Amino acid sequence: MIDLHLHLDGSIDPGDMPRLAELSEAALPQVGEEELRSLLSVEPDCRNLGEYLEKFQLPLRVLQTGESMEFAVYRLLERLDGQGLCHAEIRFAPQLHLEKGMTQEEAVSAAASGLRRGIRDFRLSAGLILCCMRGERGRAENMETVAVAERFLGRGVCALDLAGNEAAYPTDRFSDVFHRAMEREIPLVIHAGEAAGADSVRTALELGAVRIGHGIHAASDEGVMEILRDRGIFLELCYSSNLQTRAVGSPEEYPLERFLGRGIRATVNTDNMTVSGTSLKREYLLLQERFGLGVEALKGLAINAADAAFVTEGQRTALKGRIEREFPQWLRAGGR
Ligand SMILES: [Zn+2]
Repeated sequence: MIDLHLHLDGSIDPGDMPRLAELSEAALPQVGEEELRSLLSVEPDCRNLGEYLEKFQLPLRVLQTGESMEFAVYRLLERLDGQGLCHAEIRFAPQLHLEKGMTQEEAVSAAASGLRRGIRDFRLSAGLILCCMRGERGRAENMETVAVAERFLGRGVCALDLAGNEAAYPTDRFSDVFHRAMEREIPLVIHAGEAAGADSVRTALELGAVRIGHGIHAASDEGVMEILRDRGIFLELCYSSNLQTRAVGSPEEYPLERFLGRGIRATVNTDNMTVSGTSLKREYLLLQERFGLGVEALKGLAINAADAAFVTEGQRTALKGRIEREFPQWLRAGGR
């Protein structure tokens, strides 16, 4: 009932697109909601992360003003609350929202205001994770993201991330950005071991990541798995997304059991509810079907997420209490 790895732009409800387009003064393709949903969702024959990432162009077009950011975050919290989640950490890259003249600070401030309003109105807690981006340009933009994260840390923002095309832009190219973040004591989570190998996870750990986004290719390196276990690093697994981007070749190769067998603490997440066409409950049910995990084992993964969440110890205790009380019922109840 906790989603720690959830991208804002990849989780926009198609029904909200017209309002977001209005708020961003952007044009949408003149199609119905179902066709819009298919434009926003990945095709079954998606070949790699690069193709998957193309699905973000349309939602990003309608997230270019403060009003649209505020609305999008609020609506996402409303949906998550409706799905029975008790905590969510929503991520986005402020530097991708500047096309209409917003600054990164304004984008984050607007998202934080939607977050505050959502927390007030709904029955869940939440935080924002700001993504730096892998790419050719962007060192100045990434440094600006670090600065903005520092400014909003504890006021909506809970951590910093590195996202984008991992295969094309290796993690070690961004070490200066993360050294700066470490100096400023901003918690780090890094997408690694998704479209690149175990070395990328090793680098992310050297840079100070306390959680790894995906991390599945760590399974090919005993040494890296040992570090993950010994340091109590959490993996943010996103099963459907990993199959869609071909990060793993087939469901059988998915290394969940290897991680659990090594004592590595895994969590279950959606990555992108709309792009991947999924929900948190669906992810748990898919893992249950594929790996034959019982309800207690699945609940253990949810408890891992409570331990991994960027919350106060008081909040953590409350989240665990709610998971203990509500998880089996939540999993059984209809609706995804
Ligand atoms: Zn991601």
